[in-house]
Amino acid sequence: MAEITIDHVTKRFGGFTAVDDIDMRFADGEVACLLGPSGCGKTTLMRMLAGLERPTSGRILFGGRDVTALPPRKRNVGMVFQYPVMYPTLSVKENIALPMVHDRSVSAAERQRRVDEVLDVLDIRPLAKAFIEELSLGNRQKVAVGRAVARQSEIVLFDEPTTNVEVNAKLQLIRAFKLVAQRLRQTIVYVTHDQTEAMTLADRIALMQAGRILQYDRPQALYNEPTSQFGGWFLGNPGMNFVPATVVGREVRSAILARPLPLPAGLAVDATITVGIRPEQIRMSGAAEAGSLSAVLVDQAIGIAGRYLTKVRIGETMVKVNTETRPPAPLGGTVHLVAPPDRVMLFADGRRVGA
Ligand code: ATP
Repeated sequence: MAEITIDHVTKRFGGFTAVDDIDMRFADGEVACLLGPSGCGKTTLMRMLAGLERPTSGRILFGGRDVTALPPRKRNVGMVFQYPVMYPTLSVKENIALPMVHDRSVSAAERQRRVDEVLDVLDIRPLAKAFIEELSLGNRQKVAVGRAVARQSEIVLFDEPTTNVEVNAKLQLIRAFKLVAQRLRQTIVYVTHDQTEAMTLADRIALMQAGRILQYDRPQALYNEPTSQFGGWFLGNPGMNFVPATVVGREVRSAILARPLPLPAGLAVDATITVGIRPEQIRMSGAAEAGSLSAVLVDQAIGIAGRYLTKVRIGETMVKVNTETRPPAPLGGTVHLVAPPDRVMLFADGRRVGA
């Protein structure tokens, strides 16, 4: 078992708290992505898992074994970093085999079998005899992955391994990671600030902000059911729309709502209430219908994958809309929007109401 337990871990640098009382578990055999903006503490948390940094307080356990005080070499984890550390005078095959060479529990035949296995999974068998210097950065990273996983440690840590790889090789590399993860069933923690990478790779994503984990969930759940305004904004391209709301009597009113919503139970009267809706969940048409709002089309750009990304103005409120079809009016023209009530989310002081 190689479940990872992070037991109330805090890391301070002087007076600055980089990791703030994180308390969670990564399940055995899962790929967990740590996702968040630059500076949120992902690398610091990862370095503590690797043993390169010591928590200020709290404990780290691998499969029930307390490793908090152990140095990296005693933790039995594989690691892959932004810049692969490799031996230029050794071949690809020798680099992959290296961590197993002094391991007496692995016979030469078994070592060979494992090296062959990762060469196949990573699709780099033709490069087996090449020297590292002859390889592109993408292929060097594959070798680094091969080396980290071939020794079959139960846990493998990846710290932004695709950052320096050019965009096409990056997709290939992500595909290779996924295959490795599926085949070898090691527990993987993968740090990234790239939501597409996290959505593609992860069994679960831990969304980080300011040293804390805001949500730990399956990729689709994180996208569809954010528990925080930050989550709604950070995931999605573009992220969720947020429109201020006011509470009048027992109702929530907002410029994005054609009809008020009933006030949810337990909402603090003095909370700052915001309505959230994803740009692709707003319907836009040329004709008014029951429950629609009129808006003015103010900006238009074609987004990726042929979708239309539009900005509209409802009174003074700007809203992003993402549709499959061309907007039904020219710039400056009037369109009609429906924000379906079952797609609308309410946030109070940044936290989702009812989540
Ligand atoms: P990035 O994606 O930019 O690497 P990150 O989410 O990995 O960001 P960390 O590198 O963990 O973030 O840094 C979190 C915060 O802790 C940052 O504000 C950083 O400046 C600070 N920090 C990290 N290491 C140290 C250190 N050794 N001394 C002082 N502050 C540090």
